[in-house]
Amino acid sequence: MRRALNGTCPDCGQGKLFQGKIALVDQCSHCGLDISRYNAGDGPATLLIFIYGALIVPMAFLLETLLEPPLWVHAIVWGLVMLGATLLSLRVIKAVIVAKQFEFQTPET
Ligand SMILES: [Zn+2]
Repeated sequence: MRRALNGTCPDCGQGKLFQGKIALVDQCSHCGLDISRYNAGDGPATLLIFIYGALIVPMAFLLETLLEPPLWVHAIVWGLVMLGATLLSLRVIKAVIVAKQFEFQTPET
């Protein structure tokens, strides 16, 4: 889990797991682990939809109850909150899923 949070190889913890922002490297530069065998697919996005949906919908209801803003305020506020939270956590969730696939040795192919 620590290696996933650091964005490093799930096997050695030294090589980088990502090239760029969220694209996985094909192979660990340190130990040579074939990371292309592991693919989180749509799992991270689906998981984040469930997590942030469960958190943001009640907050939207609370805002509506307390302040009754126009709908465009909801669209802007919650759209930006959802986009920001997703961009900040997508990389971590993807690394955790790849680390769990490695731990249980269940690569995509
Ligand atoms: Zn490695």
